[in-house]
Amino acid sequence: MTSETISHSDNVADNVGHNYDRAEIAKFEALASRWWDRNSEFKPLHDINPLRMGFIDEQVNLAEKTVLDLGCGGGILSEAMAHRGASVTGIDLGEAPLAVARLHLLESGLEINYQQVSAEEHALKHQQTYSVITCLEMLEHVPDPASVLQACYDMLEPGGHLFLSTINRNPKSYLFAVIGAEYILRLLPRGTHDYRKFIKPSELTAMARDVGFDLRKLAGMTYNPVTRKYKLGNDVDVNYLLYLTKPE
Ligand code: SAH
Repeated sequence: MTSETISHSDNVADNVGHNYDRAEIAKFEALASRWWDRNSEFKPLHDINPLRMGFIDEQVNLAEKTVLDLGCGGGILSEAMAHRGASVTGIDLGEAPLAVARLHLLESGLEINYQQVSAEEHALKHQQTYSVITCLEMLEHVPDPASVLQACYDMLEPGGHLFLSTINRNPKSYLFAVIGAEYILRLLPRGTHDYRKFIKPSELTAMARDVGFDLRKLAGMTYNPVTRKYKLGNDVDVNYLLYLTKPE
């Protein structure tokens, strides 16, 4: 991202809150060129993608749905949803991840509308526009997650579906998501995750309820370092997914 773009975002964000952390965006800018390399820092996102798509598919048929992928990065999830026949808009504040996402469309032949804009700013012009919003692995990088949830609420049609995923905050998640993933197994670069920004499911569900969402389903995602496989289940101690709906 150029400094010009950042100051532009700063100015625009002044009208709608200022809900991003420059250092967090910079982390992803620096790695973006390797986004689609399955053996890179993004291997975990590639590995979990079929699982989270499975979770989404169980709740909603994406074909012909109008979907917003919030914090889309290089587009791993956006493309999987476009493959299902959804009409996908992907937004992110990182310039390099979006450039990679757009470039990858040439390879996949898919059509996705990628834009560099914050959730809050996008919400100003897209009230009740989307039937599905996904915001996966992003909230733990954002200063005010509740503000993102409010923007999602505003952008969803009545009865719309919201999918979130993030990392729980407890000693075990510190051990697995920070020490294990960044220092021992080296699945992620050091400093990828800031423990203080992790969010307990109880906190996230309370925030979502305050905004007006109905809680539909909570699922855990676990990683077995021996088999190197992820799976979905009831263990929400570290990574988890949340499915919410906006009342009709
Ligand atoms: N959701 C994608 C990418 C996750 S990586 C996936 O799961 O495959 C986290 C992404 O969040 C990065 O692309 C980063 O640029 C973006 N991000 C971080 N803070 C953000 C914010 N405040 N607004 C929008 N995007 C943000």
